[in-house]
Amino acid sequence: MPATSVQEWIQNVIKPEENEKYKTNGLNFIQAGRIEELLRSQLHPEKAYIRDIIAKSLQLERLEPEETAALLNCTDPELWEEMFAAGLKIKQKVYGRRIVTFAPLYISNHCVNSCVYCGFRSENKQSQRMQLNDEQLQAEIKALVEKGHKRLILVYGEHPDSDVHYISHTLEIAYAVKSGPGEIRRCNVNAAPMSIDDLRLLHEAGIGTFQVFQETFHPDTYRRLHPRGIKAHYEWRLYALHRAMEAGVDDVGIGALFGLYDWKYDVMGLLLQSIDLEKHFDGVGPHTISVPRLEPALNTPFLEKNGSAIDDETFKKLVTILRLSVPYTGMILTAREPAEVRQQVIPLGITQIDAGSNIAIGGYHQDSPDYQRQQFILGDNRSLDEAIADLAAMGYITSFCTAGYRCGRTGLDFMGLAKQGKVHNLCMPNAILTFKEYLLDYASPDTQAIGEKLIASELAALPNPKVKEIVTDYLNRIEAGERDLFL
Ligand code: SF4
Repeated sequence: MPATSVQEWIQNVIKPEENEKYKTNGLNFIQAGRIEELLRSQLHPEKAYIRDIIAKSLQLERLEPEETAALLNCTDPELWEEMFAAGLKIKQKVYGRRIVTFAPLYISNHCVNSCVYCGFRSENKQSQRMQLNDEQLQAEIKALVEKGHKRLILVYGEHPDSDVHYISHTLEIAYAVKSGPGEIRRCNVNAAPMSIDDLRLLHEAGIGTFQVFQETFHPDTYRRLHPRGIKAHYEWRLYALHRAMEAGVDDVGIGALFGLYDWKYDVMGLLLQSIDLEKHFDGVGPHTISVPRLEPALNTPFLEKNGSAIDDETFKKLVTILRLSVPYTGMILTAREPAEVRQQVIPLGITQIDAGSNIAIGGYHQDSPDYQRQQFILGDNRSLDEAIADLAAMGYITSFCTAGYRCGRTGLDFMGLAKQGKVHNLCMPNAILTFKEYLLDYASPDTQAIGEKLIASELAALPNPKVKEIVTDYLNRIEAGERDLFL
C-alpha cells in the first residue's frame, strides 16, 4: 500500500479526542518517570511487608502499585517460594482446577506497521501475504471444529483490509459453520485499535473478548520498536480498551510482549492499565492478561541482537507477580512457550491456554506450519488431544465453556463473581460438561480414560448437592446425545 494512502487511512481512523476524557490533567496513566520512581521507592522490601502483601492477595484484593513494586524487588528465595505457592492458591480459589482452552486463528497478515520484532512487519519481503477468503475461512473453522475446539481468538493484521466490516463478516462465518456435533461458540478478537463507533459495530457482531496488547509500556522503547504505521501512535493503543469498554465490549484482554524492555517496567504497566480501567468502569478491569514472550520470527534480525530476553526463572516470577497483583483476572499462557515451560508455569496462576495451535494463515485446513505465513515460531506443537491429556495428568479439567458469555456473565457480572472467588461455582460444572462433550466426540482412547477419571473426581468434589445433581443429570443427557448443556 502506498505510504500516502496509509497516512490518509491512519488520519481517518485515529480520533485522539476519544482518549481525552480518560486522561488526568492531559496525562495518560503511565506518565514518564512514574514507574521508575515506584520501583526505586521499594528497593529493599522488608520480609514482613512482603508477607503482608501476599496475605492481601490471598484475600483476592488487588494490589497497589507500591506493593507490586515491592514484590518485583524481592530477592529472598524463601519469600519467592511463598509467592509461587500463593499464586497457585489464588488460582484454585478463584478459578478452580480448570483451564479454559482455545485456538488462535490467524485470518490476515496484511499489515501497515513496522514492528521490528515481527515476521509480519510491512518491510518483510519474505513474508507471504494472505487474507482468508470466505471458503478458506470456512475450511479453517471446519478443521478446528473437527478437532474439538469451541473457542477461538481470531487474529487480524493491522490494515484497512481488516476493518470492522471485514472482521464482522468473518465472525458471522465463524459462528455459522457446523460440523458433526461441533461448532464454534465464542470468538475473541485480536485486531488493531479502533474508534468507539467501530467498536460498537464489533460488539453488535457478537465479539467475545477484544484483545489489544501494548507490547511495551515504556514510551521511548515503544516509539523505537514501532517506528511507522498506526501502531506508532502510543496513546491510541494505550486507550484502545477504554474505548472498547465505552462501546459496550465489556470483556477486554490486555498484554505485554515480554522481552522488548525491562520486564519489571512492563509488569507495572499492566497493573496500571488494569487499575485505570477499573477506575473508569465501575471496578471492571481486564478480563484477561496475556504474557507472551518474544519468539524467533522469519527474517527478523532484531531478535538476534535484542538484549531484553527473559529467562524461564524470570518468566515464572513475572507470571506470579501478576497473579498476586490482580488476583481475580484471568491469565493466558500461549503455545509460544514449549510444553515443559507451560507445565511449570500453569500452576503459578494461569487460567487459559491455547492448544493444538497452528499460526500459519490457512494452516489448519492445509495441516502445515508454513513459516512464510506465520508471525513467529511456536514453542508447543502438541495436538489438542495431547495437551488435554497432559493437563488431565496434572489434575486440570480442560474447559471449552462459553456459557458465561452467552448468559451475559461478562464485565461487571463476571468481575463481581471473580472478586468474591465464586467463578468456579458455575464454571467448574460447565467445565465438566464441556469436557465430557470433548471426551465423547473427539478424544483418543487414552485421553478418554484419564479424562473420565478426572470427571468422576471433580463431580464428587462439587460442594453443592443440588448442583451435583443437575450436573449428573446433564452428564447422562450428554451421554445420550444432547449437546451444549450448561448452568
Ligand atoms: S506485531 Fe502486529 S501490528 Fe506489528 S507488524 Fe506484526 S502483525 Fe503488524
